[in-house]
Amino acid sequence: MARTPLLMGNWKMYKTVAEARQFAENLGQRSADLVSGIDYVVCAPFTSLHVLRVMLPAQVKIGAQNVYPETEGAYTGEISPPMLVEFGTQYVLAGHSERRTLFAETDELIERKVRAIVEHGMVPVLCVGENLSEKESGKTNDIVAAQVQKGLAGLQADQVAAAVIAYEPVWAIGTGKTATAEDAQVVAKEIRQLVAAQFGETAAASVRILYGGSVKPNNIASFLAQPDIDGGLVGGASLDAASFADMAQAI
Ligand code: PEP
Repeated sequence: MARTPLLMGNWKMYKTVAEARQFAENLGQRSADLVSGIDYVVCAPFTSLHVLRVMLPAQVKIGAQNVYPETEGAYTGEISPPMLVEFGTQYVLAGHSERRTLFAETDELIERKVRAIVEHGMVPVLCVGENLSEKESGKTNDIVAAQVQKGLAGLQADQVAAAVIAYEPVWAIGTGKTATAEDAQVVAKEIRQLVAAQFGETAAASVRILYGGSVKPNNIASFLAQPDIDGGLVGGASLDAASFADMAQAI
C-alpha cells in the first residue's frame, strides 16, 4: 500500500506570533517548492496555531505539540482536544522524549492522550525512542516495542492505520547526531512488524512511520529512501522556512 510521505516540523518552544507570521510569509514565497504528493505539517506552540492556520500555504497543516486528555475541567494550564480542533489542528504529538523526560509523562498518560486525540478526529503522532544508555546496552528494540505497544493499546486497528509513529532516538534529538538511515530502517521495520502482530497486516501497511533526530535538508532523502520510513519529524531544521522548503524538495 502506498503511504503518503509526511514532512512534519516540531518547533518546540520557539517563535512568537510575529516570528510565526514571518515564517508563514517566507514559506508562502517558496510554496511552489512544496511539491504535491507529500503531507506537510508544522507543530507549533499553541499561541501560534491560529496565525499559522490563517497564513501558511494551504497545503501545510497545523499540529500541536501536546494536549490534555480531558474535554474540559479544572486542569489549570492545560489545553483540551476540542480547543485544538476549533483551531483547525489536524495532528498532535504525544510522548515526545522532551515531555517524557522533562515533564515525567508516563506511558499511561501518553496512551490516554493518543486515545483522546483520535476520539476528537485528529491524527496522533506517537513519539518513541531509546536514550543513549539504552542504546549502548542493546535495549533499543525492547524500549521502542514497549512504548509502541503501550501508546497504541487503546486504539482499534483502523485507528492505528490512520496514525503516525515517530521513531526518534533520544540521543539524536537536537544533537547533530543521527542514526544511520540503515539503523533507523531496522527499527522502523520492527515497529511495523509489531503493529502487524498487534493490529493486523492492513494497519501495519497503512500506519506511517517517521524518523526524527537531527534531520536536515542534506540528509532527509537518505531516511525517506528506506522502505519503512515514510517521513521526517524535524525540530531545528523546521524553524527556517527556506530549510523547510529545501527538505520538501529533497524528499
Ligand atoms: C524533534 O524535535 O523531535 C527533533 C527531532 O529535533 P531535531 O530535529 O532538532 O533533532
